[in-house]
Amino acid sequence: MSASSNSTTAPLLSVRGLRTVFPGPGAGGRGAAGQAEVAAVDGVDLDVRRGATLGVVGESGCGKSLLSLSIMGLVPSPGRIAAGRIEFDGMNLVELPAAQMRALRGKRIAMIFQEPMSSLNPAFTVGFQIVEAMRAHDRRASAAALRQRAVAALERVRIPDPARRFDEYPHQMSGGMRQRVMIAMALACEPDLLIADEPTTALDVTVQAQVLELLRELQAQTGMAIILITHDLGVVAEMASEVAVMYAGRVVERSSATALFDDPQHPYTLGLLGSIARIDEERSRLSTIGGALPPPFALPAGCRFHPRCVFAQQRCAAQVPAMRAVSAGHEAACHFAPVEESMRLVEEGIR
Ligand code: SF4
Repeated sequence: MSASSNSTTAPLLSVRGLRTVFPGPGAGGRGAAGQAEVAAVDGVDLDVRRGATLGVVGESGCGKSLLSLSIMGLVPSPGRIAAGRIEFDGMNLVELPAAQMRALRGKRIAMIFQEPMSSLNPAFTVGFQIVEAMRAHDRRASAAALRQRAVAALERVRIPDPARRFDEYPHQMSGGMRQRVMIAMALACEPDLLIADEPTTALDVTVQAQVLELLRELQAQTGMAIILITHDLGVVAEMASEVAVMYAGRVVERSSATALFDDPQHPYTLGLLGSIARIDEERSRLSTIGGALPPPFALPAGCRFHPRCVFAQQRCAAQVPAMRAVSAGHEAACHFAPVEESMRLVEEGIR
């Protein structure tokens, strides 16, 4: 892992005002409502501490995967980063020349994706693919040395008989094994930051638990920071020290994982938590959040969550709520945070 030139107390990654846009729908790239561009990530701020795990949570389509692709410098064309800074260990990745970003990607910032079968090339052995990932950042190493390191990487992610597995193709492995190969590949260069995008979604529950345990162990060994992108609050509860909740391209709540689960402040977070079973609570039925996440080209005015919010009031449809602190290290973007205030207004029948 690279030594940092910064103070160790500074966040490893600091994202400020990140805005990632795509051409609007309709003829000539202009949206139905005259939008030249739509923002899939819209003014995101977040920090990731060294050695910590930040869970980024939200429904599919809320912008969390595009956030990770923006950090990796892999926004698919014709998308682009229109504004904001992504400070990684003192460098603004948004302004980094392409060659420097390529050198960084895979070496200091690595990523694992949710579906290992589509991320691994079926035409090459897993060993060849790990060696290629290593060779991209170490062109002077011999073939024998790279093979040895790749076998050690497979052993580290606890793939049995790694020397034999090195020569197998992805289709010869189970889903859990393939995900372990992806992790081995991502960690081959001992990155400072690992972005794991829904790393266990395609796996069954037992294998999911094994993969999460493996990630925790590897983090303890290497000291890497992790951004864990997921829609699964159970995974967040197990893995994350801090959480950012995203809705319609924006972060709507930020806090420690403990505070988020014990004292959620944004109505959207309350809805997400209400929809999962918790071992520490007796509930006869789970609740749901009514309606659907709006697409980026049809966002409602004011608070983007207002058409689905049980606490919504007139002001919510007109004014965008600013992020406000509800306690030390805990912020929510709701006009009526802390949450007791929203509940009081509902009880008084003001809506
Ligand atoms: Fe709900 Fe209004 Fe808060 Fe938005 S600002 S989350 S609509 S109460």
